[in-house]
Amino acid sequence: MLAKRTSPEHRTIVQVGRRQVGGDRLTLIAGPCSVETEPQIMACAEAAAAAGVDLLRGGAYKPRTSPYAFQGLGREGLLLLAKAGKATGLPIVTEVMEPQLVDEVAEWADVLQIGARNMANFALLKAVGRLAKPILLKRGMMSTIDEWLNAAEYILAEGNDQVILCERGIRTFETHTRNTLDLSAVPAVKRLTHLPILVDPSHATGVRDYVAPMSAAAVAAGADGVVIEAHPDPENALSDGAQSLDLPGLRAWAWRMRNVERALKGAPTEAAV
Ligand code: PEP
Ligand code: MN
Repeated sequence: MLAKRTSPEHRTIVQVGRRQVGGDRLTLIAGPCSVETEPQIMACAEAAAAAGVDLLRGGAYKPRTSPYAFQGLGREGLLLLAKAGKATGLPIVTEVMEPQLVDEVAEWADVLQIGARNMANFALLKAVGRLAKPILLKRGMMSTIDEWLNAAEYILAEGNDQVILCERGIRTFETHTRNTLDLSAVPAVKRLTHLPILVDPSHATGVRDYVAPMSAAAVAAGADGVVIEAHPDPENALSDGAQSLDLPGLRAWAWRMRNVERALKGAPTEAAV
């Protein structure tokens, strides 16, 4: 298994522009669920950059539960996201859903996201495995850690060694939250693989007020970074408004994360091999 961690020092650091994911500094990623308009994504990008966030996220090609829900702006959204990233100096991460779109998305994105619904789309995993670009692989909502690591293995086996994992909650009997954030996946993944792991508390909880506390918990558990959704006007967002922070909320969140990061410096969080 290429994903397997073979010694306590064995870790992969993924370089994204001048940032490193999986290194000593916590990676913060924020942005809207969907790119909606140029002013919307610009406002997010500017707020993220000012808050010291490392990467800008935003969906252009969106996987939606209902075929009648907003499906994303597609190519137009991709170009707007790239423009906002360029204007603020932030690398961008966005989802790719089909093998036929991999080249188009890779032309603009710094990191390609494979969403939870596509974690076991093996044709897509193989297609991004042939790229020389970082891949953010989200855990399927009904996938075991073993299945998730095997999905990563599909990408690694094609020759792409720049894989970042992202825990985004799994489906349980609980209905108060959108999913259940499996934070024990963080030390488990650290023990089993050398790949970096991020946590997405927005999709995991579905509730704006739970995002900051669960982000702090993720950092304390040893996550290499946190990915969240933020929007200038969450009440009127075209997708996932209920879990999106507003822009002052984004700023407060980033400040809190850096404080948690500082407080934990030197604390032993990694499981032994
Ligand atoms: C997203 O990040 O926008 C998304 C759809 O996430 P997930 O695939 O985890 O549901
Ligand atoms: Mn979303």
